[in-house]
Amino acid sequence: MKHHEAIPLLPVARGEGCWLYDFEGRRFLDAISSWWVNLFGHCNPRIGAAIAEQLGRIEHVLLAGCTHEPAVALAERLARTTMGRLGHCFYASDGACAVEIALKMSFHYWRNAGRPRKRRFVSLEGSYHGETLGALAVTDVALFRDTYAPLLMAGSRVASPDWRGAQPGESAADYAVRRALDLAAHLEAHGEETAALIVEPLVQGATGMAMYDAEYLRRARALCDRHEVHLIADEIMTGFGRTGTFYAHEQAGITPDFLTLSKGLTGGYLPLSVVMTRDAIHEAFHDDAVTRAFLHSHSYTGNPLACRAALATLDIFDEDAVIAGNRARSARLTAAAAPLATHARVRNFRNTGMIWAFEVAGAGESYAREFAARALARELLLRPLGGTVYFMPPYAIGEEETDLLARRTVELLDEVP
Ligand SMILES: *Cc1c(COP(=O)(O)O)cnc(C)c1O
Repeated sequence: MKHHEAIPLLPVARGEGCWLYDFEGRRFLDAISSWWVNLFGHCNPRIGAAIAEQLGRIEHVLLAGCTHEPAVALAERLARTTMGRLGHCFYASDGACAVEIALKMSFHYWRNAGRPRKRRFVSLEGSYHGETLGALAVTDVALFRDTYAPLLMAGSRVASPDWRGAQPGESAADYAVRRALDLAAHLEAHGEETAALIVEPLVQGATGMAMYDAEYLRRARALCDRHEVHLIADEIMTGFGRTGTFYAHEQAGITPDFLTLSKGLTGGYLPLSVVMTRDAIHEAFHDDAVTRAFLHSHSYTGNPLACRAALATLDIFDEDAVIAGNRARSARLTAAAAPLATHARVRNFRNTGMIWAFEVAGAGESYAREFAARALARELLLRPLGGTVYFMPPYAIGEEETDLLARRTVELLDEVP
C-alpha cells in the first residue's frame, strides 16, 4: 500500500474480452490473464450463462454426506482429460489448498502403507506452489518465503532444469539430463524418507517463467518410480492449454501420481481447485478405520457455481478446438514479438505455448513497478517479475490485440530506464 501512494491502484469498473475498463472509460489489455486465471476473456457470455443457470438451482451445499450434479459431472469430465488414469478428484477452493491436500495425501498414503518414515518433500529451486504454510515450505521464492522460514517444515530442494543455466553449446534437453542427475543423487541418498517430488511441469511461473525441457519430467518420473516416491505435478498455472497441450506433463508422455489444478479451471471466474490421483492411491484410504481415511475439509469444497463454471470452460475447449486454435495464436504473437526477441536490451527471449518471457538488461530494483505504471499509460496491464517481462494473455486475444501488445512493449523497452 505504501508503494501505491506514488502509483495509484487501477480501479476496474468492468471487463469485456481481453479488456478491462476504468471508471473514466479508459481501457487496459489484460495481457497477464488477471494473474494467469482467465482463459476466454472477461464477461464471457457462455461461462456467465452457465453460472446464472446454476444459480437458479443450487448455489451451495456441503459436500460431506451430500453430492450434486456439477461436482459429479466435473469429476467425470476431468478424469477423461487424463484418459481415466487419474480417475479420482478431491475438491478444494484455491491453488494453495490443492497443494496442501496433495502433500498431506502423499504422506498419509505412505503411512497407510506402513512407511511412516516417508515424510519429506523435494521441490525444485525457484519453485512456487502457493503461500499457505505447507505450500510455502515447498516454495523457493525468497520474497514470499524468507520472512516465514522459521515456521516452515523442513524439505529439500534440487537444482532447477531451467535452461538459462545451460553451458554455451549445451541444449535444453542435455541440460535437463544433467540436472536429473542431481535428482538421482538426492533420491539415492534420501529416497527412504522422501514422500514426494513436487514440480511445476515445463514452466516455473512465479520465479520468472523459467522454462525447461520435457526430458527432465521423463527422468523424474523414472527416478520417482525407482525410489518409490510420488510425483506431484502442480499444473495450477500450466494446466488448461497454457503450455500448448491440455496439460504440460503430456509433453513428456508421463502420468503423475497427483495432479493439482486451479486458476484456469473455472476460466478465471470462481475459486476452485482439485487434486486428481490414481486408483491405487484412492484404494489406500478406502477403509472402515476413520484414521486411515483422508480427512480434509473446506467449507466451500466443490461449490456448485464454481464446478458449473469449470464445466462451461471445458465445453469451450471442446466446441472451439481451443488447443489447435492456440497454436495459430501462439505463432502469431511469436511473429509479432520478433522485434522484442532481437531488441538490444532483451535477454533469453523464450516461449512455451501461450507464455512468453524475457529478461531486460540493466533492469534495476524498481524496474517492474516503473514498467507496470508506464504500461498502463499505453493501455497494457503487465506486471513484470523483477527484471523479467512476460505475456500470458487470455486465449481470447485477437490479432489486432496481439500486434498492439508486441508493438507497445517494444516502445516500453525504449522508454523505461
Ligand atoms: C498460483 C499458483 C499456486 C497457488 O494458487 P493460489 O490459488 O494462488 O493459492 C500454486 N502453484 C502454482 C504453480 C501456481 O502458479
